[in-house]
Parts: sequence; structure tokens; C-alpha cells
Amino acid sequence: MTTTPMTPTQIKAQLKKFGAPFKEYKDWDSHNRNHKGPWGPVHGFMVHHTGSDSKDQRELLYRGITDLPGPLAQFGLSQDGTVHLIGWGRANHAGLGDDDVLHAVKNELKLPQDNESNTDGNRHFYGVEIWYSGSHKMTEAQYATLRKLAAAVLDFHGWSEKSVIGHGEWGSPGKWDPGYATGKMMGMDDVRKDIKATLAKKPDDEKPKPPSKPTTPAKPKPSIPAFPGTYYFRPGAKNSYVTMLGRQLVKKGYKRFYKVGPGAQWTAVDRAAVRAFQTAQGWAGSNADGYPGPETWKRLFS
Ligand SMILES: [Zn+2]
Repeated sequence: MTTTPMTPTQIKAQLKKFGAPFKEYKDWDSHNRNHKGPWGPVHGFMVHHTGSDSKDQRELLYRGITDLPGPLAQFGLSQDGTVHLIGWGRANHAGLGDDDVLHAVKNELKLPQDNESNTDGNRHFYGVEIWYSGSHKMTEAQYATLRKLAAAVLDFHGWSEKSVIGHGEWGSPGKWDPGYATGKMMGMDDVRKDIKATLAKKPDDEKPKPPSKPTTPAKPKPSIPAFPGTYYFRPGAKNSYVTMLGRQLVKKGYKRFYKVGPGAQWTAVDRAAVRAFQTAQGWAGSNADGYPGPETWKRLFS
């Protein structure tokens, strides 16, 4: 478990890992409020609705509003399920909240009821602003990406789903985001359960595995020794190939020709044995003259 905030490179890698579609807005990777206060150690991930259904809220989140300068979160989440990277570092999304809630998130305990606003949340939470009013449900695409985005953050830090909270659980007065109807916050325990499932899936396991190789390799064909040349099997020849040929003929059932041997000296016995072998192949004439050529050799040693 690490509480050092991710770098821009690291969050992009995590989003890719979990298949969360994202786009980069302006100079998001250096846009932050770090000059106004510390960023980190980080302890959790906070979910918000923006309170507006407009289709492009990037500039609003980037620049902020009167008395609340941007970035208003690290992440925006549009209706089509795209994560918009708005800023990186401290952002104005969490405000002051309850130190007992922070303690619970940090230690992944059951959340207490929030009842005070005494702790800087912008320092300790990543935040996503989901583009919808909160007076109705977010889109299915938004919810699907929310799960991936949260899992991407949790996975990096080694956190569980207990490190996710809704703004309405934090302790900022009057907040009920993320909502599903006017004034009503989503059941965050259900949201956490869904995020837990996304996190447990481990995206690496989803990649198709290469087909496994057969466990028993095909038997290698018996290697056929190279034919040395007709020269070695002529009257008067005496060499180890003649011995080799004779032994193979014996092996193949032509032992009856050899009263003695086989040996290194090429004899009429060798020739007779070869002729019998060639005839057995269905050959005749010069193809069955008792002198081995490449084809005789190949068949004899196959
Ligand atoms: Zn909020």
C-alpha cells in the first residue's frame, strides 16, 4: 500500500490497464492547486455529481467558479463514459470534512456518520466529478466507467473498495452527491460492492491466453543416415558403410544371406542381399541389380 499520489504517467497506465476510456484536457498534468496547500498523502477516492446535465463540462471543471477556482477535480466523467483528465494534484472538490471519516477511510473501516467539518479533504482524496444533475441516475456508461476508474486508483495504491466514498458521506454540509433523485444519495455500499467486483476481475486475466502447445511432442522421425555414394559399394570396396549396410539388411530380415558377417568387405553376399531387398520393393532390371543407390539406402534405413 502506498499513499504517494500517482504521477500523470502512472494514472494513464492504470486507466489503460482497467480499460477506462479517457481524454486529456489542455495542460491537465500540471494544472492543480498545489501552490495553495499540500497534495498527499492520499487515502481515498471521492465520487461527486456536478449538478448539471450539460454535455461539455471540461472548462467549468478546469477553470472553476466564482470563489472556487479550478481544477474542481482530477477527473471529469462525461455522459458517454469517457474520463476527462482535468487536473493533476490538489483540486477543489472535497473541501472540509470529518476527521473521523478520514480515519475510517484511511484504515478501511466501516464509515461513521459524518457530523463535523474540520479536515482538509482536497489533500487526501482523488475526486471524480460525474456530469449529471444528481436529480436522476447517471448514465450506464458513466457508471461502468466509474467502476473502472475507481478500480484503477484502488489497484495502484493497494486499497480495497472501502477507500471509496461519496461526497455526501464526507461531512461537507448540504452535500448529497452522487445522487439518484433530488436530495437523495446513491447507496454507496452498493457502489462499493460493484467496484470491488471490478477490482477483483484483474484485467490481466481477461486477455485471451495463447493456445497451449500439445504436451506430448510428435515423435521425431528416425534419422536416415546420408547415402555415402555408390563408390563405396563396388567390387573390391572395403569400408564401414558396407558393414553398416549389411547390419541394416540383417535387421530388416535378410539375415539368411549372411553365413558370416556382415563385414566391411563388399562381397557377392552383400550384393545378393541388396538385390533381394530391391526386388521386394517391386523393382526390376537395373533398379534391382544389387548395387545400392540413394533410394535403396533411404528405404533400407526408414
Ligand atoms: Zn461533490
